[in-house]
Amino acid sequence: MNGPEITVDFAPALALFLPHERRGAPSRLRTDGSSTLGHAVESLGVPLTEVGRLLVDGREVGTGHIPAEGEQVTVTAVARPQVVPGAPLRFLLDVHLGTLARRLRLLGVDAAYESTDIGDPALAAQSAREQRVLLSRDRGLLRRRELWAGAYMYSDRPDDQLRDVLDRFEPELAPWTRCTACNGRLTPATKAEVAHLIEAGTRRTHDVFAQCGACGRVYWRGAHHDKLEAIVAEAQAQAGQGPGSTAR
Ligand SMILES: [Zn+2]
Repeated sequence: MNGPEITVDFAPALALFLPHERRGAPSRLRTDGSSTLGHAVESLGVPLTEVGRLLVDGREVGTGHIPAEGEQVTVTAVARPQVVPGAPLRFLLDVHLGTLARRLRLLGVDAAYESTDIGDPALAAQSAREQRVLLSRDRGLLRRRELWAGAYMYSDRPDDQLRDVLDRFEPELAPWTRCTACNGRLTPATKAEVAHLIEAGTRRTHDVFAQCGACGRVYWRGAHHDKLEAIVAEAQAQAGQGPGSTAR
């Protein structure tokens, strides 16, 4: 290529996406003279979902900017907390993030997820149709143009992923209000209402129930409750939304 040569300086937080030789210092890049700066950034491996601002010689430009010879480009990381305008904050998780999906639902965060792989085009289309922020570790998926919004998951560990989502988007928490199986809303249910859906032992030992309005699943304080309580408590502590504090 004989296009203009530019210098690109990435924020340290974006270095992990870059080829090794481009990390740690501004690096030179020759573009083709017609592609956009957004394309140039993506071509180096950095998803635009992770990019905050693009500065050319100190002046902010959009991803559609066509680089010119000698420009000094600065790429910042997305601001935290990240505000996603235009719709209530809700998420869509790719097929590899089932544990994260269940934990977000446990916290009352709207998290759509299918355990079957519907494919990248269908996921991106769902993100656009339902105005959901797509969470994924797949950079190719995050590059799809039709996405409403997206966020890369930096860790493959659900604990870290959850902390990251809470830190990045600061979703409002409403623990124990959402079905961890299907993302539906839970409503309180009497023992009489759910008696035919639970085993005799559970009927004898529990009095407080909730039921999913979407799939009918019944919830009570069962064997895994301590572990779930711990997840909720840690999330609330991180968000400064402890039990009894008013939701923002
Ligand atoms: Zn449900």
